[in-house]
Amino acid sequence: MEQHPSCLAMKKPNPNRRYSFKSILIILSLVLPACKSTKELPVAQTAPLLEKPKNIVLLIGDGMGLSQISGLIYSQKDASSFEAFPVIGFHKSYSYDDLITDSAAGATAFSCGVKTFNNAVGLNKDTLPELTILEEAEQYGLSTGLIATSSIVHATPAAFIAHQPMRTMYEAIAADFLKTEIDFFLGGGEEYFNNRKTDKRDLIQELKAKNYNVLHDYSDFVPKKFNPEKNLAFFTESKHPTSAIAGRNYLANAASLALDFLENHGEKGFFLMIEASQIDWGGHSNDETMVIREMQDFDRTIKRVLEYARKKGDTLVILTADHETGGFSLQPGSKFGNIKGGFTTNGHTASLVPVFAFGPAAKTFSGIYENTNIHKLMRLALGFVQAETEKNQN
Ligand code: MG
Ligand code: ZN
Repeated sequence: MEQHPSCLAMKKPNPNRRYSFKSILIILSLVLPACKSTKELPVAQTAPLLEKPKNIVLLIGDGMGLSQISGLIYSQKDASSFEAFPVIGFHKSYSYDDLITDSAAGATAFSCGVKTFNNAVGLNKDTLPELTILEEAEQYGLSTGLIATSSIVHATPAAFIAHQPMRTMYEAIAADFLKTEIDFFLGGGEEYFNNRKTDKRDLIQELKAKNYNVLHDYSDFVPKKFNPEKNLAFFTESKHPTSAIAGRNYLANAASLALDFLENHGEKGFFLMIEASQIDWGGHSNDETMVIREMQDFDRTIKRVLEYARKKGDTLVILTADHETGGFSLQPGSKFGNIKGGFTTNGHTASLVPVFAFGPAAKTFSGIYENTNIHKLMRLALGFVQAETEKNQN
């Protein structure tokens, strides 16, 4: 029987043959598990950094644990955005002084890479300010943005831009915004900028003087082009924004607006943090309907970000939570489309928190690691670590 010429060609040894890096990795991954002793404990290794993103979008669902995600998935017919992520890991959310973190210490671990005490934003355990990933991105010439469905001075966004020992120092946190070059921010809490009790400063006027377009109302929120030469501050409410159940629905549009704005605002890429703030509040009030409605609002937003990242190919998307809230579970009697939720606490819990990643360098986010590792991996992905090493060598 005559062999097909292409089979012969394949069998012919080629002295110039080189195995590609990728094929070696594939061979190693097949061979190594077979060699490993079954007595050894598995150790999660961070995958090598293979690609470098231009942009990072960090999505934080405050208080979002595995049951909150399960509740979303079993509540709707459409596949959730969570199922589109190829890489999943877990982080250990505990803070410096408590196994149960709060949102301030939880977000500071992401923003600064340090475990700090509960209630602190942007400070280390010795109450000294730490450079945040947002401030560092500014130093490297990237554009930066923060979006929240709480007030913009609330703990999670605050940890990326402010340095205060108490998360409730809202006016001091608002003033810290003026010390940065943040390009885009959107959320509630305008009163901490223009109706201040601690001083008579009008931070809205100060923002305008610092080249910001300032917008006040999202009822007329129509995606449009803004002057990319100016920064953008968008206050959706004077106080905290309302819940998704009560009609708040700006998050997905805000994400689209920010992505478009930041892409056109500079050439070196951007860092954007988007928080679904009120999943946590649903957990605190042991309200499963609120938890799931906030999760659905977040899911729509994540889909917008993934669409963008798929189209562009240069954007690393990281999706995680600071901690779980409520000890939420899906109780017996739950059905598809009708979740019967149960709670074990009206506070936070210490369960491991899932991390989802998509895009260049996503592989580095697999495994189980400290919450501070997310900061380290973002710096690696954006090349800050390499740049720092080069700077020290010169
Ligand atoms: Mg929060
Ligand atoms: Zn909370």
